[in-house]
Amino acid sequence: MSDLCSPPLSAVPDLWFDDGNIVIVAGSWSFRLRRGILAFQSSVFRDMFSLPPSGSQDVYDGCPLINVSDDPNDMEHFLKAVYFPQYFPPGISQEVEFGVLRAVLGLAQKFDVPFLRRRALCILSDAYSTDADGVPSLSTPSWRGRRDHPSLDCLLAEIALAREVNAIWLLPRLYYEVSYADASDIIIGCQEASDKELRNSVLILCFAGLQRIRAAFEPNFMINPASSCSSRAKCTQRRWIAFGKTFHLRDTPQLFFSYSFTEDVDSGACASCQVAIITDLHTRRKELWDAIPGFYGLLDWDRLKEMKREETSLKGSAWGEVICS
Ligand SMILES: [Zn+2]
Repeated sequence: MSDLCSPPLSAVPDLWFDDGNIVIVAGSWSFRLRRGILAFQSSVFRDMFSLPPSGSQDVYDGCPLINVSDDPNDMEHFLKAVYFPQYFPPGISQEVEFGVLRAVLGLAQKFDVPFLRRRALCILSDAYSTDADGVPSLSTPSWRGRRDHPSLDCLLAEIALAREVNAIWLLPRLYYEVSYADASDIIIGCQEASDKELRNSVLILCFAGLQRIRAAFEPNFMINPASSCSSRAKCTQRRWIAFGKTFHLRDTPQLFFSYSFTEDVDSGACASCQVAIITDLHTRRKELWDAIPGFYGLLDWDRLKEMKREETSLKGSAWGEVICS
């Protein structure tokens, strides 16, 4: 064994326990921890600790030392989430920073900490509905800032995380948003990006998806009056006006995210046409939503929702954690 004294390691104060019996080192940051807690929560650490001590085991401050290759900041977030229940509690979707969420989820996946993985996936899943009708009622997650639309960088970071942890049910919604990203963002981003491979593969996928969406959603149904229309000439005129106002639905994600359709048809058209046009739009909207995963080569919603249930619900645990909807 060798007791390492140099180079000096920076102890992270909140995660340097006097009675700790293992030292984890990430970069130049060190964490002195009770290994029993780490082993209880993480099968990866449990397996690591169960190995017989070797003669070359490094020691720091009298404790066995384990080097990890992860970012020190990420490791701090992750270890705080493991040791301090209040640091990453269930149901914090509107307050959590994306960097914290990414660190906790990514490392919970890597080190196999099921309760943290589930908790983080609940937060992500609550932010992005898998049901068309649930989309408009969701608040924008805090990490997206106050912009009407998230930046391309933000969307790509969310996609990278969802892919990394195999949270496939999040992807249709995220790909759909990327499909409508601002063209100048895409051009500038592609020139400057460090993650060109991810960026290019996602953009090609989303551009192809956009072509399929455009082919699938035809708002022409709005032009023809209802069969029980009581005022065909007037209603045809009102329908054309509504059609003109809503034609942009083909080129924006507003169809799902914030658009209120009723205002465009609630004056002028007869009652039958008002009901018919809104019903038709909701039907087409639902059909389009159902088809979106397929446009991006993903599993259908039923199977995606089943995956979501599997990954975010408790399985016989007696620990009383909040279950996300
Ligand atoms: Zn009518």
